[in-house]
Amino acid sequence: MSADVMAEMKWVYTFGGGDSEGEAGMRELLGGKGANLAEMAKLGLPVPPGFTITTEVCNAFYANNRNYPETLTAQVEAALAALEAKVEKSFGDATNPLLVSVRSGARASMPGMMDTVLNLGLNDETAEGLAQLSGDRRFAYDSYRRFIQMYSDVVLGLDHAVFEDILETFKDENDYSLDTDLTAEDWEVIVKEFKEAAARELGRDFPSDPREQLWGAIGAVFSSWMNDRANTYRRLHDIPESWGTAVNVQAMVFGNMGETSATGVAFTRDPSTGDTGYYGEFLVNAQGEDVVAGIRTPQCLTEDMRERMGDPAPSMEQAMPESFAELSRVFDQLERHYRDMQDIEFTVERGRLWMLQTRNGKRTAKAALKIAVDMAEEGLITEEEAVMRVDPAQLDQLLHPTLDPDAPRDVLTSGLPASPGAACGIAVFDADEAESRASHGEKVILVRVETSPEDIHGMHAAEGIVTARGGMTSHAAVVARGMGRPCVSGAGSIKIDYAAKTFTVAGRTVKDGDILTVDGSTGQVLLGAAKMIQPELTGDFATLMGWADKSRRMKVRTNAETPADAKTAVEFGAEGIGLCRTEHMFFEADRIAAVREMILSDSQDGRVTALDKILPMQRDDFAEIFRIMGERPCTIRLLDPPLHEFLPHTAEDVADVAAATGLPAAELLARAADLSESNPMLGHRGCRLGITYPEIYEMQARAIFEAQVIVEKETGVRPVAEVMIPLVATAAELAILKARVAGVASAVAEETGKTPVYLIGTMIELPRAALRAGDIAKDAEFFSFGTNDLTQTTYGLSRDDAGKFLGDYIEAGIFEKDPFVSLDRDGVGDLVQIAAERGRATRDSLKLGICGEHGGDPASIHFCEESGLDYVSCSPYRVPIARLAAAQARLAAKS
Ligand code: ADP
Ligand code: MG
Ligand code: MG
Repeated sequence: MSADVMAEMKWVYTFGGGDSEGEAGMRELLGGKGANLAEMAKLGLPVPPGFTITTEVCNAFYANNRNYPETLTAQVEAALAALEAKVEKSFGDATNPLLVSVRSGARASMPGMMDTVLNLGLNDETAEGLAQLSGDRRFAYDSYRRFIQMYSDVVLGLDHAVFEDILETFKDENDYSLDTDLTAEDWEVIVKEFKEAAARELGRDFPSDPREQLWGAIGAVFSSWMNDRANTYRRLHDIPESWGTAVNVQAMVFGNMGETSATGVAFTRDPSTGDTGYYGEFLVNAQGEDVVAGIRTPQCLTEDMRERMGDPAPSMEQAMPESFAELSRVFDQLERHYRDMQDIEFTVERGRLWMLQTRNGKRTAKAALKIAVDMAEEGLITEEEAVMRVDPAQLDQLLHPTLDPDAPRDVLTSGLPASPGAACGIAVFDADEAESRASHGEKVILVRVETSPEDIHGMHAAEGIVTARGGMTSHAAVVARGMGRPCVSGAGSIKIDYAAKTFTVAGRTVKDGDILTVDGSTGQVLLGAAKMIQPELTGDFATLMGWADKSRRMKVRTNAETPADAKTAVEFGAEGIGLCRTEHMFFEADRIAAVREMILSDSQDGRVTALDKILPMQRDDFAEIFRIMGERPCTIRLLDPPLHEFLPHTAEDVADVAAATGLPAAELLARAADLSESNPMLGHRGCRLGITYPEIYEMQARAIFEAQVIVEKETGVRPVAEVMIPLVATAAELAILKARVAGVASAVAEETGKTPVYLIGTMIELPRAALRAGDIAKDAEFFSFGTNDLTQTTYGLSRDDAGKFLGDYIEAGIFEKDPFVSLDRDGVGDLVQIAAERGRATRDSLKLGICGEHGGDPASIHFCEESGLDYVSCSPYRVPIARLAAAQARLAAKS
């Protein structure tokens, strides 16, 4: 940005008190929180006024060596003056002080960011003024101590334990158990001790100038954009650094002004189940952070919820009927306005309701489905919008097991059902350890007193989460739901000893490494591994998938080679097999001996003899799959890996094979050495095997065609085979192999009197094949993009070795994402599009599909839609995800 442009920029937008300069559509500039505060104020809802410092300031700040734009100070001063006029109070005034909250707000809600600072603007003078003005000294000094504590923690980075210790000691000495037991005088004493402690820790006085406090907090928000927590969160959620965060400065309203005041959080529908009916918690005489921090146990919002939870404390509906009625009206208005379930924060100050936040609520997959389907049926959104509303990646949660209700359970304890689904793993008490043990393939359950943003990586690595403290809206609960990890929060009866790595409950002790099962749907924590059951794919799931199928153009197939996988995939809606790898079939215990015999024989005759033994087994494999797939097309790839992969590796294996084949071990080892290659990925594999050992592919082709005939005779259904030749680089390779396979098909037709239905095509997985697609399509009736190998060969990057440095590449910004997970559109994608175009120019009817790992990745599926592929193929469990993603890609392309 040039200096001229900078000088003209509008950095600050006001909201509330009659009008707003911003609106919901401006979330890129104002962040989600700021844009929605502006929108709510525009709708005429009661929003404490304030102003938003834009995300552009954040970007300018980092672009300019952590300096603010020159004109920012003046714009903030002007907005502050306007705010003072609206609320008729003055910032820093000793008799009529304005207090503000300073709140971060990125485009997408980000738990890694700076925590909110409340009650900013207090010092000895303004606290006294607040006491006079409110007629409530206790409230004034309660606010003041909160401010010192929060500001010290969040802005000054002091250890919060110092303040907690002071408060605990004071309570002990005075025989108090609750914070609410403290009087005005007590809080004054605490404030004094807090300030002294802060000065000691800081080496200077705690800042008493409200403007210094304000700029300190603003600076802390912008700095937090680049802290470790935020960086980790952004990486996990694909949020670009360039988005920046906004800062909201807002007049305080007080939920801690006695029994007619309260603060709370609510969802307009149940975020776990999607059920209609408000869902939320509130605390009387408290400020916002009390709810989230889990310091006090919140009460239920509605009577209905209170009854369901069996909570003895009165609900808000009961305790504050008028505010509750007003809140209900606001909920309905906001849901109609945003046409989505809302997550809302509010405060009641002496009976008066104030709205502090609204956003589209995070929800479990189950709730997302139900809410989308319900809202479409209510007429609030269209069926197509409903399809767009569910995150395909989130569906994963529904496709995984839950606990079998009839199986015996050894229940250790119960907490809150904070995030549904069941998971099983070993107990681990530390986030770093959870991450490292998970990276070694162990399944872990993370057990914590409570979680904080520092634990996010461990929560991500864990199968499930248990916390001793915290409600349904605690950090653990919110984050776990977002990540789709089963979570039990507030399991208050467990006593965790971090040092010993154990927890005890009801006289039993669970050690680090003991197996636990977490049932996030009921809140139970069980000892040992409990029996799980497979998910139900009916109801809302079926309805939404039906709508998705209506919207989608691309077909969805599956990668499967076992009957079990094929069955699962068909249940999940697979419309064919996109990749059946035949080599896995070679490893089966009953045939590996024959496979080795084939590989080890040095003559064609020897190989044919061995292959004759394999043929019937392979034919049975294919027949089984054709029976399951019916008329759905099955792409079967002929043998692909280098032969030495099948040879024995250990001395013991060698001895076994020697005994079975009658060959001396030395000869075996010599043959293995013969076959070994220095770069097997680029070696004698794929169609190159077919060229040198014609009999192998001929056997496989025969097994396929004979199986088709058998199944047709048996069932009357004609199976459809797509015989796929792997690793083709030249048109000539394919021409030679196609002729042989077609020859086998004719032979089988002649022998059996039945002509199998088949196509012959190739996998496009080498750059040369992509570039020469026009030639290759003369013989290929289909292309299947093998994007795993195509990514390896395009980048010249071995997937098995890349893991060691991919992290560095992503950190350095060279790769935005792992190209083996999400297709590289620019390079690999270019080759895909070139091949599609050139191939179709030769052969109009050329069928195009993708069978790499990318076939189940929603972003890659969007690319496939844009490139005009006919189908994607993915692992069975991802089939519903791909169906939904393909529908969304189609709808996005149409709009
Ligand atoms: P987060 O993004 O972590 O939810 P918020 O900025 O929403 O942080 O602030 C957390 C809580 O602080 C709010 O839910 C609310 O209870 C309280 N809060 C924030 N601003 C104000 C304010 N101006 N007046 C009263 N309470 C506030
Ligand atoms: Mg909030
Ligand atoms: Mg390959």
